[in-house]
Amino acid sequence: MTAVTVIGLGPMGRAMVGALLGAGHRVTVWNRTPSRAEQVVADGAVLAPTPSDALRASPLIILSLTDYRAMYDVLGEATDDLHGRTVVNLSSEGPSGTRDAARWIAGQGAQFVVGGVMVPPPMVGTPAASVFYSGDAESFEHYRQVLATIGEPHRLGDDPALAQLMYLAHLDVFLTGLSALAHGTALLGTAGLPASEVMPGLLAMLAATPDMVAAGDAPWTQIDTGHHPGDLSTATMMGATADHVVAASEEAGIDLALPRAVQAHYRRAIDDGHGAQSWTRIVDGIRAPH
Ligand code: NDP
Repeated sequence: MTAVTVIGLGPMGRAMVGALLGAGHRVTVWNRTPSRAEQVVADGAVLAPTPSDALRASPLIILSLTDYRAMYDVLGEATDDLHGRTVVNLSSEGPSGTRDAARWIAGQGAQFVVGGVMVPPPMVGTPAASVFYSGDAESFEHYRQVLATIGEPHRLGDDPALAQLMYLAHLDVFLTGLSALAHGTALLGTAGLPASEVMPGLLAMLAATPDMVAAGDAPWTQIDTGHHPGDLSTATMMGATADHVVAASEEAGIDLALPRAVQAHYRRAIDDGHGAQSWTRIVDGIRAPH
């Protein structure tokens, strides 16, 4: 049993508290809006009256806040109580903001571990949950078992920003996929088809994507070797389809930002003379836009 403090009781923080309590840990919580603690207190957590009290209650401090600005807002008034503690920040932030925070936490005499939770709150604490970590290795190993309560921990390295980058890259794919889903649904809606009729099929398209991109050489092999054979499909063919998606969206009078972004990736590859190669060639233009 470990004493753990969780600061931030949005849906994610509350789910983490539930998992930690379920594993038998002693959990202290603090939240800016105290009423959000009611359920977890009923479940066995202790509500600290101030951030300082919350820090003093445990050697391990888990933050589940909207962003790192919220971390400064909360911990900035309690820095005297940070010394010697391990702060595991599972909140979203950009890379430079994360590295700045690592320096700030180190300046308070505390250890810093960064994490990105890869599942929504209902999946926290289940076998399907996973969390990417980076930052202080010793503290991570010390608390690995406790952190595993939240989800399978995957440590990426010492750079505190690494876990954020991994989290954001996955969210890049996820959020873009969701926007594509909404866009396709809106496009079909202009033909009178309701979401209930079309969305399951569009979702199945996302689900089929791994098999479709794995036909032929794996895309990561093509990208890592710089060899992009276009024997199954070419950037020119995909680019023509991207043009048609833009044209159909334009005719339908719906938003063009997403299909135009996709179209631009293919146009760049074609303009650079790579039209006969695989779609994977678009990564070059994404890496070095011109
Ligand atoms: P919410 O935005 O619902 O909760 C955020 C928490 O941050 C609340 O406790 C809120 O307090 C607190 N907060 C925000 N700003 C401040 C501030 N200035 N000072 C003090 N407290 C503040 O987020 P979630 O619980 O959904 O998510 C938490 C983190 O987990 C985020 O970084 C998110 O990216 C990440 N995450 C979330 C997932 C999800 O599906 N929800 C999935 C994967 C990761 P108050 O209650 O007073 O508003």
